[in-house]
Amino acid sequence: MDLIKLKLGVSVSYSTALRGKNLAMRELRGNSEDSYKMLYSYLHMLEQVNSGTTTKVELDEAGKFKYLFIALGACIEGFKVMRKVILVDATFLKNGYGGVLVFAKAQDPNRHHYPLAFGVLDGENNASWTWFFEMLKTVIPDSSEIVFMSDRNQSLITAVANVYPQSHHGHCIWHLAQNVRNHACNTIKAVVAWRFMELARYYTLHEFESAYASFKVRYPSAFKYLEENTKRETWARVYFPGCRYNLDTSNSVESMNSAFRDARRYALIPLLDTIIKKISDWFNEHRKDAVSGSIDTKLVPLVEIHLHNLWGKAEKTPVRELNSYDLEYEVTDTDDGKVYLVNLIAKTCSCKVYDYEKYPCLHGLAAYLYFLEVPAVHGRRREVNIEYHQLSSQYYWTELWAMAYYRTIYSVPDKSEWNVPDHIKLLQIIPPKKLTRKGRKKVNRNPSVGERRKRTQNVRRPRTNFGFSWLLFGMRTNNPSEPNNPSEPN
Ligand SMILES: [Zn+2]
Repeated sequence: MDLIKLKLGVSVSYSTALRGKNLAMRELRGNSEDSYKMLYSYLHMLEQVNSGTTTKVELDEAGKFKYLFIALGACIEGFKVMRKVILVDATFLKNGYGGVLVFAKAQDPNRHHYPLAFGVLDGENNASWTWFFEMLKTVIPDSSEIVFMSDRNQSLITAVANVYPQSHHGHCIWHLAQNVRNHACNTIKAVVAWRFMELARYYTLHEFESAYASFKVRYPSAFKYLEENTKRETWARVYFPGCRYNLDTSNSVESMNSAFRDARRYALIPLLDTIIKKISDWFNEHRKDAVSGSIDTKLVPLVEIHLHNLWGKAEKTPVRELNSYDLEYEVTDTDDGKVYLVNLIAKTCSCKVYDYEKYPCLHGLAAYLYFLEVPAVHGRRREVNIEYHQLSSQYYWTELWAMAYYRTIYSVPDKSEWNVPDHIKLLQIIPPKKLTRKGRKKVNRNPSVGERRKRTQNVRRPRTNFGFSWLLFGMRTNNPSEPNNPSEPN
């Protein structure tokens, strides 16, 4: 029999240790049925310790659990100072009752997860997604400023269109790239996927149309798939009607799902505890990040580093002033020799990078350096004074970044400290029907339409990197929103 030695120096049999571990896991996961019985009381306490929190439980006609929605007050309040781009995704639960765990999240300006709301649904269907978005709408109203990003689940798309008619809905280009890849014939599929993601990220209509025409010639079957199954405005930046800044994939939601991969096996209340504690940890961590910089650092690190990297080149970039009142400049890009038109008041550049990303491109920065260096000669509008951080959208200012995290998120206290009114204690929920397991236990979620499954066996030998750069066209690499790898999300 295998023996293991615990730190205490006591030898116990492996089977005894395993039993102990299983017991500990059961305690961590809690009793599944108790979770449903205590759910109303738990949610009452969650609302008590986190003001402004919205929770909602939906039961079926028989009183069985159907859906759950939670939006923490601190998150909803913080979202007011963040870019209005909401990433949505779902992952299967593994606690024996089926259903999916869904998240609606934002991304903070420094690329961190910022959960807005989460819930448990009985699956991804029209009714469940519609219910979730109806709940979300009670805390985040419909607006033309709101942009949803998700994979191409049809129920989700329909629900967003019905519940948030003013919003814009973009599809995750990483997911779509996997579909495109699967529809490419007689070519290197990874390159087609990469080129598609490049297409989606072009900044000017001219660049897009030119590259799309080449794409059509090189990859006719992938082009046909795109034309017949997608609308350009859902994936191509140049056609997208809303403002999604530098966000174009919902894959960061999936990476968040992976943060809760193990918790998906817990009973409902331990699952909620785990999620809330994790969000609380993220808030604490990023709050420290947001206030830890020097008082002179007024931009989030991501943008600060981006501008720092452009600085040397911007100083050497030729600039010609066109209008000293309206702060319009002609900037000659020494790489492509083209002349770009920058307007520092409107925060625009004819390369369109400034317009979409909302922080300066190389040309915008070059124009600003010119603006600073050239003395205020006769004729310049003297009341114009643009500080460095004012070149970027307020959403990238550290001041607003810190505000998003200013509130503490508290976890629900121990049950012995609960103070729940009797009328809530008496509310009962019947657990949903337990699933009967058939066949091998399934761990991973089904891939979205066209998404590739990960290889689990017969792992292919790494391919030699022959370098595909000669195949590529129109690449931009100096932007923080660009992908680093053709087959992986950023
Ligand atoms: Zn530019």
